[in-house]
Amino acid sequence: MDEARHERLVIIGSGPAAWTAAIYAARAQLEPLVYEGSFSATMVPGGQLMFTTEVENYPGFPAGVSGPAMMADFRDQALRFDTRVVTDNVDSVDFSGRPLRLTAGDGTELTADTVIIATGANARWLGVPGEERLAQSGGGVSACAVCDGALPHFRGKVIAVVGGGDSAMEDALYMTKFASEVLVIHRRDELRASKIMQERLLANPKVKLVWNTVVREVIGDDVIERIRVEDVNTGEQREIAVDGMFVAIGHVPNTGFLGNAIELKPNGYIATPVPWRTVTSVPGVFAAGDVMDDFYRQAVTAAGTGCMAALEAERWLAHGGEE
Ligand code: NAP
Repeated sequence: MDEARHERLVIIGSGPAAWTAAIYAARAQLEPLVYEGSFSATMVPGGQLMFTTEVENYPGFPAGVSGPAMMADFRDQALRFDTRVVTDNVDSVDFSGRPLRLTAGDGTELTADTVIIATGANARWLGVPGEERLAQSGGGVSACAVCDGALPHFRGKVIAVVGGGDSAMEDALYMTKFASEVLVIHRRDELRASKIMQERLLANPKVKLVWNTVVREVIGDDVIERIRVEDVNTGEQREIAVDGMFVAIGHVPNTGFLGNAIELKPNGYIATPVPWRTVTSVPGVFAAGDVMDDFYRQAVTAAGTGCMAALEAERWLAHGGEE
């Protein structure tokens, strides 16, 4: 006998993609159930925007908006249309048959006709002393230059960008618009970034490469003042005075709970094989936001794909499981 509660649509996640999907699905009377996640040391319901001080590039907020305030508004808007929310994780899924099966953190078993996965990605952090404290307090440490780099605090200052990939190149170039000097701190003597991005970076007079170097500590009471770095070849340590640090060492999509239930891209993001669609390798399962987007990674693009996923789920249900 099947005792699991059955849902038409379960949405997993609580960032811009998940709430936008919920708003659209609820207004289409699909009565979505959102698993918004639970509180842990590295993640809270609301996702990455909960760690963003000021969002200045989301259209509709001419004066900017704090990340947490924006997510509270997204959530309230979904609740207004009778979205049901559970503050728990989905711990595992079984998509091998129909209906789809999900198990929540508290052991609750659910079945569903459709699922939208919008669990996002976490920025990879260095994990050194001082980093997390100053990132969470808005003390000049961030993993998103596009989000935080234009704040007045960084104007005319010396900024460190950590990493050697395209994101680090992009962040460093972005920061040259505001900073007096941008130090790119990379652990090797060769960049991973594409040649064109490397060339652009190296041609910019405000950029200085600090090779073979890792950050060991971020120092500062309320605001970052210095970083302690180590030369990986000699082991020699020294301190560099900086007014900001952007960590750009990659992202980790939150797909661990999926096991082998769904096809992932080689870099771990959920594969959405049809261009401009959110369909995944499993019929009736859609993916939206940063868990499937390794390219744009913006709140506004996440919201856009959340809308797409809800419309596709609605159409899928209306057509009795046909794409
Ligand atoms: P990435 O290519 O994986 O590069 C991560 C960088 O961080 C690497 O240089 C790596 O060093 C370094 N790193 C990783 N862990 C570290 C640690 N613990 N301490 C110090 N350094 C560490 O990630 P990404 O730059 O975010 O790019 C992800 C994907 O998006 C790539 O495919 C990229 O091409 C794409 N992307 C494209 C654009 C664009 O085309 N405009 C912009 C952004 C991203 P090592 O090199 O030594 O491994």
